[in-house]
Amino acid sequence: MAKYTDAKCRICRREGTKLFLKGDRCFSGKCAVDRRPFAPGQHGRARKKVSEYAVQLREKQKTRRTYGLLERQFHSYFIKADMKKGVTGTNLLVMLESRLDNVVYRLGFANSRNQARQFVRHGLFTLNGHKVNIPSLQVKVGDSIEIPEKNRKVKVFAEAQETIGRRGTPNWLEADYAAFKGVVKAVPQREDIRTEVNEQLIVELYSK
Ligand code: SF4
Repeated sequence: MAKYTDAKCRICRREGTKLFLKGDRCFSGKCAVDRRPFAPGQHGRARKKVSEYAVQLREKQKTRRTYGLLERQFHSYFIKADMKKGVTGTNLLVMLESRLDNVVYRLGFANSRNQARQFVRHGLFTLNGHKVNIPSLQVKVGDSIEIPEKNRKVKVFAEAQETIGRRGTPNWLEADYAAFKGVVKAVPQREDIRTEVNEQLIVELYSK
């Protein structure tokens, strides 16, 4: 599968905002957005005229990159969101938030979505008691995500839990770190989704 392999901090600098792609480093003074708050490359500091299309495109790219998706995957989420009842932009965000890798990250079992995806792919979690290795799985209300006993010694889980306080667990999830377990309590509402995004711009972009 195609994969973006360039430096993660360059992505944030390109989007001009923190996308929290590197876990703990994002909260430290080493964050590249804090240290070099301009776009990467030779013309990164140049002042540019920004068109309406460019604003919409950047919003879409920012969201897509926050969740670590390729264009084709992201667009297919949009198509599904558009076919559902309700507000397309909200549907899109709810679907992105409900991905298993995002839930693992939000529960604090991983330091970044990228790390969460790797953990899921390596089969370190169970979903409702069954081993899973598909990061894009959509979780449902009542689903239980657990780290089986044999995987609990993996050091990174302890490290990730030490830093979860900085992010906090959203209302729609419940984490029990002593039991290495998390539960989906509710469908995420728009106000529960802390990703800084204006989803309406994405809808406008894809509706052209
Ligand atoms: Fe982005 Fe984190 Fe790098 Fe800062 S440290 S630029 S938030 S990936």
